[in-house]
Amino acid sequence: MTRYKRDYYEILSLSRDCGDEEIKRSYRKLALKYHPDRNPGDKEAEENFKEAAEAYAVLRDSEKRQTYDRFGHEGLEGTGFSGFSGFEDIFSSFGDIFEGFFGFGTRGGRTGAIQGKSLRYDLELTLEEAFHGKEDEITFHRLEACVTCSGSGAAPGSAPRTCGTCQGRGQVIRSQGFFQVSTTCPACQGQGEIITDPCPDCRGGGKTRVEKSISVKIPPGVDTGSQLRLRGEGESGEYGGPPGDLFVVIHVREHTFFSREEENLACQIPISFVQAALGDTLTIPMLGEKEGHELVIPHGTQSGEVIKIPGKGMASLRGYRKRGDLYVKVIVKIPKKMSQDQRELLEAFAETEGPAFANKKKKPKGFWKKMAG
Ligand SMILES: [Zn+2]
Ligand SMILES: [Zn+2]
Repeated sequence: MTRYKRDYYEILSLSRDCGDEEIKRSYRKLALKYHPDRNPGDKEAEENFKEAAEAYAVLRDSEKRQTYDRFGHEGLEGTGFSGFSGFEDIFSSFGDIFEGFFGFGTRGGRTGAIQGKSLRYDLELTLEEAFHGKEDEITFHRLEACVTCSGSGAAPGSAPRTCGTCQGRGQVIRSQGFFQVSTTCPACQGQGEIITDPCPDCRGGGKTRVEKSISVKIPPGVDTGSQLRLRGEGESGEYGGPPGDLFVVIHVREHTFFSREEENLACQIPISFVQAALGDTLTIPMLGEKEGHELVIPHGTQSGEVIKIPGKGMASLRGYRKRGDLYVKVIVKIPKKMSQDQRELLEAFAETEGPAFANKKKKPKGFWKKMAG
């Protein structure tokens, strides 16, 4: 049910700089391959068919494509584009692409059917949860067809009466000068019938707000802004229309030790100047692992140097690589306090650095004079 939103170019096997003809060709190939008439009852093919249609809808439209290129899936949010919920939707948009192929024709949609609204659910995760993936139960509210009246809005035992104003047509004709104008019937708001005895549970609206809990499977590697689309889990449609979708939008909380950039992780560890100079082996914590990881600090390591630990980053959602890397930045700490012994040892060490350093004690005055110019 839950499917991670894949990259549109990846879906259509296209490069980012592909032309319009390529987009069309590629989509047609997939659409024919996954066409429901060729794959009756095959859910996987159905999902692939819808996914390809969604990718095509965005990439064929230069404005949407530009938005997508710059901001990804999130960029299309709020532009009113929410993909396709059913075949009718797709056929009515791109039916022309099938014409002349294998006798596939367009399928007419049911008139008046309205798809239910899509819903958004914001889910916060810790970095560890994003790392491992998670199965979570989420609870939200949505409008569903009223159980008492089966969505009709009429009280049980009663039936809606045909609207007298429009005789059930939903439209009324008005004369305006020479013209006759057809408009939505004001008495029934275009529904063709009037509820005289409204259902007590939904007050005639046909829908009730219900609390719904569903289990969501979050794949490892999600990041802030990742979206999971649960098809058909939005609000129920009207007049036989399909339900909307539920979008689970992921927010990953900041971690105290690890920071993240796409699949890669980064952290900083402080070491002493002795460790930096002589080298050392440390155990550092690993995200998602009980045991730490042995990190070898080579002798002569400079402050700010970055050590890469391959394959210890986040899982990749893009599929072409398994995991990102971990970058450990080493920060050399200079002690603010030293014991007398330590100081003497360091001074003895300084002697070995040669006469230039030994004279340094006298240097400051001249040095500052020089600086002052
Ligand atoms: Zn009702
Ligand atoms: Zn009417």
